[in-house]
Amino acid sequence: MTQTSHLTEAARCVRCGICKTLCPTYLTSHSESMGARGRIAMLGELGKNKLTPSENLADKIFSCMLCGACKNVCPTGIDIPEVIYGGRAVLRNSFHKGRFLRRALKFSMERMDPVFTFLRLSQKFLRPGKLRDIPEIASTPFKNGIQVYKNVKKLGRIAIFAGCSVNYLYPNLGHALVNILLSKGYEVVVFKGELCCGAPLRSLGFEKETSALARRNIEHFNKVRAEAIISLCPTCTMVIRDQYPLIAGDTIGNIMDVNEFLIKYNTTSKLETTPDVVTYHDPCHLSFGIGIRDKPRDILKNIKGIEFVEMKHADECCGFAGLFSMHYKEMSQTIGEKKIDNITDTQAETVVTSCPGCVMQLEALKKKSGSSFKVKHIVEVIDEAMHE
Ligand code: SF4
Ligand code: SF4
Repeated sequence: MTQTSHLTEAARCVRCGICKTLCPTYLTSHSESMGARGRIAMLGELGKNKLTPSENLADKIFSCMLCGACKNVCPTGIDIPEVIYGGRAVLRNSFHKGRFLRRALKFSMERMDPVFTFLRLSQKFLRPGKLRDIPEIASTPFKNGIQVYKNVKKLGRIAIFAGCSVNYLYPNLGHALVNILLSKGYEVVVFKGELCCGAPLRSLGFEKETSALARRNIEHFNKVRAEAIISLCPTCTMVIRDQYPLIAGDTIGNIMDVNEFLIKYNTTSKLETTPDVVTYHDPCHLSFGIGIRDKPRDILKNIKGIEFVEMKHADECCGFAGLFSMHYKEMSQTIGEKKIDNITDTQAETVVTSCPGCVMQLEALKKKSGSSFKVKHIVEVIDEAMHE
């Protein structure tokens, strides 16, 4: 779809309002222009040249979290997040708040290793709150030069799509997944040619640049001989699976979310852990994006020692939404606080999720609220349960 056809698509809206009832930015702001229906209405008018690009309009379109809660509910079948992407491509130069990140990201995409090394060194000298509440950048990234973790059992060959957050911020999650796969008999490939999936770039309106990145990832990964390519980040999985075909005309064929893989390959039976009361937070791009809700719950409920409690509104966004949490810090915080209340209401000792971005947000909010629950990615829980 071209940017113009994205906007023409918005003109099919019948203003029913179903989408806005699920839209976290509408539910927080109670403002029509900060909700799904309002955004679609404005982009429809932009497509008809009844509105012209402006800073105010860009602000409303870039305040969308791209969470996808509105994605599958439209009775006329409008793919609302796709229309938003189209709008961002047109409005990107009017989004003044995003100026710095736009330049920084465009510059960084081809130079992730030196950029993260620079950020790691700078992190020590910045006041808390600067560089947001991101965890300490790892001195050794997950992709540390080892490309193949060999296995004498050689049950099969699995590759990992690490994603930037696992690679630079949470290498421990990548290593947990490697441990799980090795102990199940798989050889593991960590491909050094991997590039950023392109989600941050596309969220800033860089369609052409994301498409170029996507093509290179597709070309690289389709050469990797592996039964599956597993990702620990549902944003990467969703972008590769659903958006690469739209923006690059192809995809990485066997990309899988880690939960999908673990259930399909029956790798989580007979697990046991020390007694723990656990609740689960659905990452938006896993639940709304690729429709995975039951699998992580099934895994957790089958681990001996875990008492599973469901939280209220488990599929509501935690407020992270990538760059949204930097550009709309206050709203991100307000949305996140609701999540923290829902977690603490369960009295769970641990909240588990399946997304490194959600882990980051929940950790930061937990510290601010003084709560004591632990935050874990599901691979950490499984890795621990395999070794207890
Ligand atoms: S993607 Fe999320 S934030 Fe954006 S319009 Fe849809 S529901 Fe609202
Ligand atoms: S659900 Fe679809 S038709 Fe209804 S207001 Fe939202 S975009 Fe328009």
